[in-house]
Amino acid sequence: MRVVVTGGAGFLGSHLCERLIERGDQVVCLDNFLTGTPANVEHLQGRDGFRLVRTDVTDYLHVVGPVDLVLHFASPASPVDYLRVPIETLKVGSIGTLHALGLAKDKGARFVLASTSEVYGDPEVHPQPESYWGHVNPVGPRGVYDEAKRFAEALTLAYRHTHGVDTGIVRIFNTFGPRMRPDDGRAIPNFIRQALAGEPVTVAGDGKQTRSICYVDDLVTGILAMADADHSGPINIGNPHEIAMLDLARWIIDLTGSASEIVHIERPVDDPTIRQPDTTLAQAVLAWEPQVAVEDGLLRTIEWFRSQEQAQAFAVPP
Ligand code: NAD
Ligand code: UDP
Repeated sequence: MRVVVTGGAGFLGSHLCERLIERGDQVVCLDNFLTGTPANVEHLQGRDGFRLVRTDVTDYLHVVGPVDLVLHFASPASPVDYLRVPIETLKVGSIGTLHALGLAKDKGARFVLASTSEVYGDPEVHPQPESYWGHVNPVGPRGVYDEAKRFAEALTLAYRHTHGVDTGIVRIFNTFGPRMRPDDGRAIPNFIRQALAGEPVTVAGDGKQTRSICYVDDLVTGILAMADADHSGPINIGNPHEIAMLDLARWIIDLTGSASEIVHIERPVDDPTIRQPDTTLAQAVLAWEPQVAVEDGLLRTIEWFRSQEQAQAFAVPP
């Protein structure tokens, strides 16, 4: 297969590119490096079938030759990132998705949208099944991401029904692993970076808010199962292992053997209180469920952070 991965130099995109190359597919990786970096796919450069192209998918999306599959992953994903670039986030979710769908239509390719658990907002149903419509504040700060993804889902379905494009939507829950930027602001890279540096570990509010966290290898398996299926989704992909942020901070301090203290910082506006995927559909349709124990995933991620050049990787801009 020849696969186009938008956002392929990001955290999830780079793992997808790697797995696709390993299984013998050809990959065109498109990225503007807004929140990703060519370093994430450096090890793939020169491998048979891999091509990295610097492009902003909101400006232009043209690929020469046949394409069998478009994986649309371009978008900032960390709240700190998307609050820094709110308009770029809205543009890539709307115009970028329009272009990626147009490419799939042109080439007769299957299209898979990386949607998110954020479409459920601050949920009033727990755990969240795909049938839940969500509880999103469109004019709150997170609206730029949540509404961009909700729009992207609607656009994807419109292309399916109007143009007959073979589409799939995955709603991805919090995922972690190697190649997360130490300064991307998400809880797991923050906690690991802080614990390894012996700095205070910053827990927002009382830390009772929960997330359900999935190791990246499992996530990639689920995404590729969806890519290879003909289901339209949306399908939740995530590990139902739910944990309060204070407990997660304590766990990471313990696993790193750190002497860091926990400090409490202000809770972001509209920060969801609970979040857990109902994965019944993924099990039934894709025969997918996570295999990696969260502790093993955390240990592998900590190991990767340790292996990074300390001075460079841990230098957080003021
Ligand atoms: P990331 O920020 O590491 O990767 C996103 C990539 O998209 C980056 O390489 C960035 O440079 C690129 N990009 C952004 N705008 C672009 C544009 N206009 N043109 C070309 N490239 C562009 O984030 P991630 O965690 O890898 O997330 C990837 C996708 O998965 C996103 O769509 C995100 O919404 C979705 N997602 C991720 C998670 C998660 O836990 N990581 C959860 C839910 C959904
Ligand atoms: N969080 C935290 N300390 C940090 C960064 C995040 O306690 O240094 C909290 C954040 O407020 C949220 C949870 O951790 O309640 C998950 O945040 P993250 O940004 O990782 O993901 P998202 O909110 O997008 O699910």
